[in-house]
Amino acid sequence: MPICTPGGSRVEEKIFVTVRVRPLSRKELSLKDQEAWECIDDNKIVFKMSSQDRSNSPSSYTFDRVFGPTCLTERVYEEGAKNVALSALTGINATIFAYGQTSSGKTFTMRGITENAVNDIYKHINNTPERDFTIKISAMEIYNEIVRDLLKPDSGGLRLLDDPERGTIVDKLEEETAKDSQHLRYLIGTCEAQRQVGETALNDNSSRSHQIIRLVMLLNFSFTLLYDVYNGYRKIRNNNILFYIFIPQTVESTLHENSDCVKSFVATLVSYSYWFNNTNFFVQCSIWAYKCFLQNFVDLAGSERAGQTHASGARLKEGCHINRSLLNLTTVIRTLR
Ligand code: ADP
Ligand code: MG
Repeated sequence: MPICTPGGSRVEEKIFVTVRVRPLSRKELSLKDQEAWECIDDNKIVFKMSSQDRSNSPSSYTFDRVFGPTCLTERVYEEGAKNVALSALTGINATIFAYGQTSSGKTFTMRGITENAVNDIYKHINNTPERDFTIKISAMEIYNEIVRDLLKPDSGGLRLLDDPERGTIVDKLEEETAKDSQHLRYLIGTCEAQRQVGETALNDNSSRSHQIIRLVMLLNFSFTLLYDVYNGYRKIRNNNILFYIFIPQTVESTLHENSDCVKSFVATLVSYSYWFNNTNFFVQCSIWAYKCFLQNFVDLAGSERAGQTHASGARLKEGCHINRSLLNLTTVIRTLR
């Protein structure tokens, strides 16, 4: 379904796939390595070299957008990620993730995208003072199949639980409220510093874990309702959201989605008063509520071939876990399509 995000343009697809080719590193240049891929237009990359390994593979691929080695992160963000990065502000849960071989530039790119997204999220919040947002952050890494809290690194491995309401959740994952954009940037920096890094032959400073930074955006609002108890419940339409308010269980509300955007809604009764007339019993409630949207930034650990990286011992074990989890991710994505 077409949707409009603060990024401006209308997007038809729910999955947007881009490729970024990084420039050759100093080490690669000194070894006289050649660039293997060329972006021939905004959508197509072509394999430039002859390789026996790839003799059965296509020589070109088409994506929603491709970015060449001279392209700056700002442009990758603007044209490849901004729409998705800001979609949580309009009620669409979204995820941006980087996938690719070790040393292909995932961490470099995700860092820039997260930074730009944080700037734009706060810009949007400042430009819409009539809306009251709270931003919370949680962050975890998955290293050798163990989930660690990057905001609370001493807490040890965390358990995954199946919650009937919320789906799969990470038990006891810390969630911190960001006071402002500077505080949020500080928290993200702290998480990145906690992440497992190890040296491999392909990358001197390789991320060996998957990192998930989750921004929880809460849109706070309050309203007053007047209703007639004998009618059982009453439907109230507010901002295109349909509330069903039941009594007498204080307030229980169900959000009925007009689209597939809005996922959760929580309401708290602040105060109420009631009175009778001849035939009816009325209750007036003041309700404070918030809607909750999620934006995930995922920097995956890189896939690699053990033979190419000369990995052994701990590095080899990590590599096996990384490759297995990426394979599982491929299965998930295939299923989603
Ligand atoms: P990955 O996370 O995929 O293993 P990194 O993001 O760590 O790879 O990148 C590997 C190296 O290449 C790092 O030193 C990084 O600074 C550099 N690099 C990656 N992408 C770019 C880019 N677009 N421009 C300049 N340097 C880059
Ligand atoms: Mg990395």
